[in-house]
Amino acid sequence: MYGAGDVRVERVPDARLMESTDALVTVTRACVCGSDLWPYRSMESSDIGRSMGHELIGIVEDVGSDVRTMKKGDLVVAPFAFSDGTCIFCRQGLHTSCVHGGFFGSNGTGGAQAEAVRVPQADGTLVVLPVGKDDALMPSLLTLSDVMGTGYHAALSARVGPGKTVAIVGDGAVGLCGVIAARRLGAERIIMLGRHPDRIALARIFGATDIVTERGDEAVERVRLLTGGSGAHSVLECVGHGQATQTALSIVRPGGAVGRVGVPQDASIPLAQATFYSNITIAGGPAPVRAYIEELLPDVLEGKIQPGLVFDRITNIDGVPDGYRAMNERGAIKVMIRF
Ligand SMILES: [Zn+2]
Repeated sequence: MYGAGDVRVERVPDARLMESTDALVTVTRACVCGSDLWPYRSMESSDIGRSMGHELIGIVEDVGSDVRTMKKGDLVVAPFAFSDGTCIFCRQGLHTSCVHGGFFGSNGTGGAQAEAVRVPQADGTLVVLPVGKDDALMPSLLTLSDVMGTGYHAALSARVGPGKTVAIVGDGAVGLCGVIAARRLGAERIIMLGRHPDRIALARIFGATDIVTERGDEAVERVRLLTGGSGAHSVLECVGHGQATQTALSIVRPGGAVGRVGVPQDASIPLAQATFYSNITIAGGPAPVRAYIEELLPDVLEGKIQPGLVFDRITNIDGVPDGYRAMNERGAIKVMIRF
């Protein structure tokens, strides 16, 4: 990406092993993320550009001398952040704070919207998949690299549990996966805030019990009506800008929790006093997706959850600039790149 709206497909030097803990992975599937749309809308023009993409499934092409848990030819899924799996934060399940960790597409690690990528800390990062590279489950497996794990993190951060009423702000792929997560965690009622017919239909398939199509104050009013005036126990904030955060914090009931997974686009959190006096828990952050892959993988393999339905467009590498455009214009929920 060279600036707002400026995505180019370019030939770059081949990815290669640099550290003994690296794996070299040929990407078979990648995708465009809602978080890629923030720079797509606002990035200042740059001469050097930025390598994009952080969600991938691929085949191990080569491994460094210290890599133990995979071999050439294995099919693997990568979480959007790499991590060693052994430091104090990884051991507590917070892989996005790994002391040896980092993110694809920054600090010398290439982006995943590419034919191949160097994966640092391969043993801690990658999970070998027990299926072939063209398995029908591929879309759902690909969501384990970000959106399904992120939706799950939002639900856990918002303390979703049996019998609870959950509201979800954001009808993108993460919010929709949040519906799956809320149902999986036993929520009794799942209120989706959204207005796009395709997304509402998918939310219903995933388990949403109520849909709120209003926005802003009207949406807040509507959720209050649906919850007997008190608000939702758990609110998943899956957008990250001021209005969505404001709405999320306005529909949570006293003593409830808001799980934030949308990357904040503002420096401060609104409603500091109102949330203080209502004892609202505000939690969340970049999802330690790696911590959730093993937990969610059996459900995907058994077909219990189908988060791959969020992909409503498939393209090849040359179609990536159009994929960004489509997602930015909300013409697509999420675009898969097939190599
Ligand atoms: Zn670590």
